[in-house]
Parts: sequence; structure tokens; C-alpha cells
Amino acid sequence: MEEARAGRQLLEALGLRERKGLDLIACPSCGRAEVDVIEIAERAQTALTDLAIPIQVAVMGCVVNGPGEAREADLGIAAGRKRGHLFVKGQVVRVVPEDQMVDALVTWAQIIADDGVEAALAMADTSAAAEAEADRQALLESKGDDANDSGTKVELIRKL
Ligand code: SF4
Repeated sequence: MEEARAGRQLLEALGLRERKGLDLIACPSCGRAEVDVIEIAERAQTALTDLAIPIQVAVMGCVVNGPGEAREADLGIAAGRKRGHLFVKGQVVRVVPEDQMVDALVTWAQIIADDGVEAALAMADTSAAAEAEADRQALLESKGDDANDSGTKVELIRKL
């Protein structure tokens, strides 16, 4: 059963089968994440599965690298500075409080299903993109551009 579901999702992701349901992806989380990505992704999966909408959704743990993936999905959210940046087809449409991230995904998935992507984009908050960029810059300033200290880790591995 699980294998069949994975196979179906693979075909849908490759565009070889019409999407029939939810395809939710989440980042693996890392030192930059400011939320419990897995917990939010699980709640989103449960809430969105109940809607039975054919849609790809991305749940990302930070607003620095998360938007890249979130922009690729039909609907995406990236967390940071106690807020969630909500994307529809790559455009920031809302910045919502962290505790409303799952509700926002459900609301906008329903808008896309009922009225289509163009209608959803027309409802975008015009100040959302600037707010999102301000959050992103603030996070970069507070954590630097290498929150996972990958440079040090690479040096340690090289010495092994
Ligand atoms: S950099 Fe951001 S999006 Fe990437 S794994 Fe870490 S928290 Fe997730």
C-alpha cells in the first residue's frame, strides 16, 4: 500500500500522471530552522489530506533557504522570526503568525482549489513580499550566512 502511494506520487511529480491528491514535501530541518518543521509538516499533512485537493505543498524551516523550494510548489510556507511566509506559485501572498501557518496553508489550498491560482494571486497582500524580505535579511544578520557552520565541518572532515 505504502509502495503504491510512493509510486503514484513519483509519477505525479514527474508529470506522468495527473495529480489526484496531496504531495507534501518538507525540508529536513537544520541549525537554521526556527520551528519544528516535522511537527508542522505532519499537522499540515493531516489537515490537507482531509481536503482531498490535488496540490503540491512545501513546508520549509527557514526563510533564508526555504523560499527556493517553497516557490517551486503550488503552495509553500517558510518559517522565520515567529512568522510564516506563504507562497502561491512562487509569489509571497501573506506573512502570517507562526501559530497560524497550518491554518493558512489550509485556507489558501482551498482558495486555489475553488477559484484557481490566478484568483489566489490576485488576493495577495501587496506588502507581503517586502515584509518577507525584511524577515529574511534580519535572520541573515542574526545568524550569518552559514548557520550550520558548514565551513568548519568541511575542514574537520578534510582532516580525517
Ligand atoms: S536551510 Fe532552511 S530550508 Fe534548508 S534545511 Fe535548513 S531550515 Fe530547512
